[in-house]
Amino acid sequence: MQKNIIALKKLTRNLWWSWDTEAKHIFEELSPLLWERNNHNPVELLRHLSNEELVARCHCEYGEKIERVYNRFTAYLNDKETWAAKNAPELVKNPVAYFSAEFGIHESVRIYSGGLGVLAGDHLKSASDLGINFIGISLFYKEGYFSQYLNHDGWQMEDYPLQYPESLPLEKVTGPDGKDLIISVTIAQSEVFAQAWSLKVGRSTLYLLDTNIPANESHYRDICCRVYGGDQNMRINQEIILGIGGVKLLEKLGVKPAVYHMNEGHSAFLTLELLAMELAAGVEKKEAIESVTSRCVFTTHTPVPAGHDRFSRDMMHYTFNKYLSQIGVEFDDLMLLGSEDRNNIHGLFTMTVLALNLSRAANGVSKLHGEVSRSMWQILYPGKSVSEVPIGHITNGVHASSWSCGYTESFWRNFTDSIDNMTLSREAAEAVLAKVSDEELWSLRYSLKRHLIDFIDRYLANQLFHQHSSAIYNEYDALRAAKNTLSPDLLTIGFARRFATYKRAPLIFRDLERLNRIINHPTMPLQIVFAGKAHPHDDAGKDYIRQIVEHSRRPQFSGKVIFLENYNLGVAKRMVAGVDVWLNTPVRPMEASGTSGEKTVLHGGLNFSVLDGWWPEAYNGENGWSIGNGESFANHEEQDRFDAEKMYTVLENQIIPTFYDRNEDNLPLKWIKKIRNAITTIAPEYNTHRMVKDYANKYYLNQSGK
Ligand SMILES: *Cc1c(COP(=O)(O)O)cnc(C)c1O
Repeated sequence: MQKNIIALKKLTRNLWWSWDTEAKHIFEELSPLLWERNNHNPVELLRHLSNEELVARCHCEYGEKIERVYNRFTAYLNDKETWAAKNAPELVKNPVAYFSAEFGIHESVRIYSGGLGVLAGDHLKSASDLGINFIGISLFYKEGYFSQYLNHDGWQMEDYPLQYPESLPLEKVTGPDGKDLIISVTIAQSEVFAQAWSLKVGRSTLYLLDTNIPANESHYRDICCRVYGGDQNMRINQEIILGIGGVKLLEKLGVKPAVYHMNEGHSAFLTLELLAMELAAGVEKKEAIESVTSRCVFTTHTPVPAGHDRFSRDMMHYTFNKYLSQIGVEFDDLMLLGSEDRNNIHGLFTMTVLALNLSRAANGVSKLHGEVSRSMWQILYPGKSVSEVPIGHITNGVHASSWSCGYTESFWRNFTDSIDNMTLSREAAEAVLAKVSDEELWSLRYSLKRHLIDFIDRYLANQLFHQHSSAIYNEYDALRAAKNTLSPDLLTIGFARRFATYKRAPLIFRDLERLNRIINHPTMPLQIVFAGKAHPHDDAGKDYIRQIVEHSRRPQFSGKVIFLENYNLGVAKRMVAGVDVWLNTPVRPMEASGTSGEKTVLHGGLNFSVLDGWWPEAYNGENGWSIGNGESFANHEEQDRFDAEKMYTVLENQIIPTFYDRNEDNLPLKWIKKIRNAITTIAPEYNTHRMVKDYANKYYLNQSGK
């Protein structure tokens, strides 16, 4: 009994459980209510249960389950026959250090904002599954990203609930003397100190730096307060802790990474600290720069200008002057490394430029984004044509077992022993699907949609209860109507992601009359579920949310158009599993990759998207639908009009009729055929196992440079 309790507690200390269905089940089974209330956080769950209660609960059957999961967990950790052991033994020896400002691993660990973090989390998990020696570096944000709720006008409000290290599976990193390991960095005229937490993610370790310690003046304690919080000054301070602090931490731990991977430009200051180490060892400047460059790789993630941090020369000077004199680098030399125009070092310092200048290889995150990035940064490579710019691409994927819900997982287990088999190759996926009947596939869809609707009912009741007084009649009415009308028989569209304006969430409302006819069609109706957060500084994005909420309250859409508050990993998992169609309407080519549509595929969801990001590579005419053919207009208004028109037409003429075209058994055979096509063509390609193998082969192992 006691043994099982210890095993249970050990399972909570490694986020491996977050992608193991049975492990999640044993926590949930302990107390479904506490599991829900504590945001699926097993550490919190166990804190609420006394030892006596645990002893009572660990009766034979439940105890056996714990034992089984725990054995699988230890077998996983000890497995020596991994992909990396067989295919990339170098990557088992020295680690890859992967720096990212955010990691989205599970909803209970709130150190992420959106797609970039989710990608980093999925990368970490796949690296673990593949047996790559892999270390993540990030920050511990005590307030995380914000929790979203809407006020009466549908305007986004932000809450910043604290998260406590003791509520998470964080271990404080200590030195050989057993004391807290503290690093320090120079910011402006000050020494700023940080401690580190470690978080186990399967075989991978994620280190989180934390400036919230007594050694710091109070304004420096708050550097790691919020994900992408504060002003430019806060951003540069965060990025110094992440990049320079991260390298110092690894140095103190005695870790010698073979590769430093900068996931987006936020961490690019790590190159300065690597440079400092070379210079301190007496290496000449030119060789020192070459040595740093030979160990770094860089992934750029967006063509959107706001996604590329730029700091003024004054701010750079103020912040770095002292540090540079300590390491022996001239200020103008630093500015040169971060200036877009090498002939003008008096402008802005761009993190992406620093990262490109000091990495041996760089990539975008889809084929199209690779092309866009090459022309975007051509200016850095005078004399090279666009196609010669040394930026390649690896298309983003998703971690299959993290994104398949328990129901989906057990569905596929009826036909194959692991869901990962669906992602190995097209042939493997086809072989599994050949065993699945149309009825079975359709019942999967139906069940998942029912689960989503049950979830939405509970979620909306809560949304209503804790945010709105019943005096707000319209709101109440709309929410209540939703509870009564959403139906698993209806074609259901999902749209959920950050409300960056280029993603154009409200596009489908451009022609309200036409949408009304579509949604309220007498025999072929439609329902749409929205969710998403706008960055706290992004009023235009918040206005998009407000517009959608306003539309959802119109009598003709009430109960058919739903906006769910507080999009996060947990809500995302429910939505991608339940909806029939995942809608994506970015302004091409602003969506570097996008990943949410990839998450829906193993659940039998179909994508309907502008040909942007990953979709032009994946779309084959049969595995979903496209909005337009990649047409671009200089005029935004014209683009919106064109894309909306295409969207309505495809909905009316293809998507809706196909969904409602049933045989005598009420099966939509053409739709089911598309699901099969989507699973076999998309799942094997757009997953992080494939993606991380590509990084390994193309960038981690390949020393050849640019
Ligand atoms: C997958 C995911 C995203 C990324 O979605 P995109 O398709 O890239 O816009 C953002 N937020 C959450 C919570 C996600 O799970």
